[in-house]
Amino acid sequence: MRSDQKMKASATPDDDTNDGVGRLTKPAGPPSLELIEDLTTHAGAIQRRLLREIVATNAGTDYLRRLLGDNDGAHGDDDALAAAFKERVPVVEYEDIKQYVDRITGGEPSSLLVSSAPITEFLISSGTSSGQPKLMPSTEDDLRRRAFLFSLLSPVLNKYVEGMGEGKGMYLLFVKPEATTASGLTARTALTSFFNARLVREALSARGTSSEAAMRCTDVEESMYAQLLCGLAHRGEVVRVGSVFATALLRAVRFLETHWRALCDDIRAGRADPSVVTDASCRDAVDAVVARPDPGLADAIAAECAAGSWRGIVRRLWPRAKYIDAIVTGSMAQCVPMLEFYAGGLPLVSTIYASSESYFGINLRPLDRPEDVAYTLIPNMCYFEFIKVDNDGEVDTVVDLVDVEVGGYYELVVTTFTGLYRYRVGDILQVAGFHNAAPQFRFVHRRNVVLSVDTDKTSEDDLLRAVTATKPLLAPLGCVLAEYTAYADTSSIPGHYVLFWELTPPPPPRHDSGGEDDVARVMAACCAAVEAGLDAVYRRCRSRDRSVGPLEIRAVAPGAFDALMDLCVSHGSSVNQYKTPRCIKHPDAIAVLEQRVVGRFFSDAVPHWEPLKVAAATGDT
Ligand code: AMP
Repeated sequence: MRSDQKMKASATPDDDTNDGVGRLTKPAGPPSLELIEDLTTHAGAIQRRLLREIVATNAGTDYLRRLLGDNDGAHGDDDALAAAFKERVPVVEYEDIKQYVDRITGGEPSSLLVSSAPITEFLISSGTSSGQPKLMPSTEDDLRRRAFLFSLLSPVLNKYVEGMGEGKGMYLLFVKPEATTASGLTARTALTSFFNARLVREALSARGTSSEAAMRCTDVEESMYAQLLCGLAHRGEVVRVGSVFATALLRAVRFLETHWRALCDDIRAGRADPSVVTDASCRDAVDAVVARPDPGLADAIAAECAAGSWRGIVRRLWPRAKYIDAIVTGSMAQCVPMLEFYAGGLPLVSTIYASSESYFGINLRPLDRPEDVAYTLIPNMCYFEFIKVDNDGEVDTVVDLVDVEVGGYYELVVTTFTGLYRYRVGDILQVAGFHNAAPQFRFVHRRNVVLSVDTDKTSEDDLLRAVTATKPLLAPLGCVLAEYTAYADTSSIPGHYVLFWELTPPPPPRHDSGGEDDVARVMAACCAAVEAGLDAVYRRCRSRDRSVGPLEIRAVAPGAFDALMDLCVSHGSSVNQYKTPRCIKHPDAIAVLEQRVVGRFFSDAVPHWEPLKVAAATGDT
């Protein structure tokens, strides 16, 4: 028997519904609190069965045959299978599987490589590899699994928030450009993929204020304007306001602050200003929403916007809103103070923990404060494992979902139906507790990421490389970069990267030549060069999404970094082991450097970005 035939024969390994577990591994069933109870109660058994299904389904692929031989996963008990799997399949990172991704994007049949079900598209992750976004394989079934997790949010929210079904959601969602691989597969972000599913589109247009054309509009500012116009036109019906990540929502409020007059004029006139919304299909769709002149609504909105402080503006503009729906955990925690200022007491609700690799979990206590949010991993999403980490970094133990310990820190590792086997996601999580047998995790941070404003994720290495490349630019000033560190400044919207630089010898305060300030010119060029050296996601945020502002270098006086060291030592660092932190977060550390700033310089050029070109296996682009 050929191995792919054999694989088919065993694709549904004793789908025994006697113990109910076979049923629970499927992403099916009317979403209900009872189903969540069932899933979390049987977390261990579901995980073991899921692993067996994954191995049996994909036993004939190159990847698994190479590691497991012709073991099709259908025989032996679940525990024995899990033990063999862990013994023979290594924990990997993207670089280890990239050759497979490249072969599929180059046209080789995915069913022979990593996943027996055909890969139908790639999801573009915001994590990068060699400066380019990572591509995660996805299948039809994967989309169903994601939709299933999403469907579980409704019963949870209904339990805590009354009248959810009575109005609309104003969700600011931005569909991103898609790329096509040499083999003709689409590569797009997980949200864009999800949005393309018919059911999701229908749900959004029935229960959301934004017209589909507005979300698809390729110009981000035009899309924002159009979506806000729709949201304001539906003001009386909006029961929740949201975006995927909190940064987009903050940006929307900021946008509103500068554009509310024009938006009110459009509501008064009953149509979108064609000089602002230039995309014809977007304008037609928005005109259909605004529909008729409404001077009363325009005056009411203008009165709120003109009322001085913008404290509580979200609640004032959408008085029926019951909560704000956006991820405010992880790097988004930096948005919480501003969002609370605008929210006027509306709870900030982070509902979901998900990624391009797989969707992971949901928040079962949506009204918890952002700092208390923990996500319950849903055991039929993928096979979860956890690398234990302690203060010194990584420890060599990998444990199962149900075996993590409360309070412990772990890095998430997943095995999916779509061809990821023991794949390190890169997220560090802390166990906050359990819901039945399923652990609940607090998102701690992303491994190796030191700077992040929006979906950008900059590591210490990325930063070092980008900064090092700019050093020759300092030559005309006759100085070198002695020390640097950075932080993400999100006190303004959009946030931006701030680099503190100590230059030796310090550049002359002013150095006029032909009326030009050489120092300012050189430093602005350094800012731009650092940006140009950062990865594709950073450059996309800066140039296309404009969700990250121009990078700033703050030159500090000589001795500033000694003062930083003194501070760290006073907080307990050992002088012997002290290394300049390449990223600082503590307000005291920022203040020490801030007090010694002698010049502030901003990037004067938007870094180049172009949509992802997917490389074929041949290396062609
Ligand atoms: P992407 O694959 O580009 O969609 O990004 C997924 C990553 O976003 C995850 O691996 C996390 O690092 C981050 N992320 C997703 N959901 C959350 C959440 N609820 N809280 C914090 N970070 C999140």
